[in-house]
Amino acid sequence: MSSWRRLLTATALLAVALGALAPSSWAGPDRPAQDPPPTSESPQGEVVESWALAPTGSLDPNEAGNRTALSYDVDPGATITDSVTLYNYGNTQLTFRIYATDAFNNEDGQFDLIPGAEEPTDVGSWVTMPQANITVPPGRQVVLPITLDVPANATAGDHVGAILAANDAEGTGPDGTALDLTNGVACGPTGRVLGLPGVWAVGDAARWDGHRTEHWTSAGDQAAVVAHDVLGAEPPPPTVPYFWSDQFGLKIQLIGRPDRADAVEPLLGTGLTGGPVRGTVVGYLAGDALVAVAGFGAARYVARYRALVADGADRAAARELAATFG
Ligand SMILES: Cc1cc2nc3c(=O)[nH]c(=O)nc-3n(C[C@H](O)[C@H](O)[C@H](O)COP(=O)(O)OP(=O)(O)OC[C@H]3O[C@@H](n4cnc5c(N)ncnc54)[C@H](O)[C@@H]3O)c2cc1C
Repeated sequence: MSSWRRLLTATALLAVALGALAPSSWAGPDRPAQDPPPTSESPQGEVVESWALAPTGSLDPNEAGNRTALSYDVDPGATITDSVTLYNYGNTQLTFRIYATDAFNNEDGQFDLIPGAEEPTDVGSWVTMPQANITVPPGRQVVLPITLDVPANATAGDHVGAILAANDAEGTGPDGTALDLTNGVACGPTGRVLGLPGVWAVGDAARWDGHRTEHWTSAGDQAAVVAHDVLGAEPPPPTVPYFWSDQFGLKIQLIGRPDRADAVEPLLGTGLTGGPVRGTVVGYLAGDALVAVAGFGAARYVARYRALVADGADRAAARELAATFG
């Protein structure tokens, strides 16, 4: 399966065990998620952005080296000095925001990090670094010192977090206005770039109303909205995000915003309960509203849910439609 989502951050896992009383209760990743280095020469002129962050001393930040994580077994009140190394594998200069944050186990028991805008209160807040932003020339690496001050009253047990390098630096408009480029170019609901009048952004690079939708169809849908807005015309009705992907002969489709859901509803097939994945259609509900539908090898059924997702239909309507599939 090909992964086409670009990672915007590189992460170095940070684990502090105090008193070593409890066995680890967190499910850490096997190794930090990293952008792979380019595997071949880039076509001439193509901009390659690729980077990684790893504890200094790792043999290779993309392989399990001699240090896959910053891991310490210490007493409360301890101070640790260490460093991470930031690698720019690409062919363009990159500026990163460097910060530490806390980790937690999400509902699925998976390792997760608190959102970048949220202030850490645990191990992430114990870390200090000399600078918050750093620019790394192409093909270079930079060692970044870190200091970890464990509070004297820190509780016993595991404290898990991460150091992150996020390529979400602030940009500047022609008049010097600061532009928010965190997780894409910040735009309003019709693609107008916030803080830069007369400029619109669409597609993978754009974050409309706080959300990036990196799909083929979304880039086209957004372009249609922008064209209307540029001409001062009434924008077309909002479209529902949609993508499909053919993976090993299986068409996977998603309509809507599953990130807004708090429950999953099987609509067709038995893929959710151990049956064949092919032919399975799943609804995502936020309260009673259908916010997304995913289908696996069930193209003719998924398409029929588009209008329901667009209307925020309720669970009963979603079930009613599924019942007509026979
Ligand atoms: C391998 C792969 C598989 C994918 N599969 C699917 C899929 O199955 N379904 C789906 O919905 N989506 C898929 N996507 C995502 C989809 O391709 C993107 O969401 C979509 O192409 C975004 O369109 P865009 O116009 O925003 O960006 P792009 O299509 O990336 O276009 C940006 C263009 O800008 C050019 N450019 C970049 N920098 C500069 C510069 N400085 N000056 C001038 N030009 C520049 C680039 O060369 C490129 O041509 C896939 C993506 C990849 C990489």
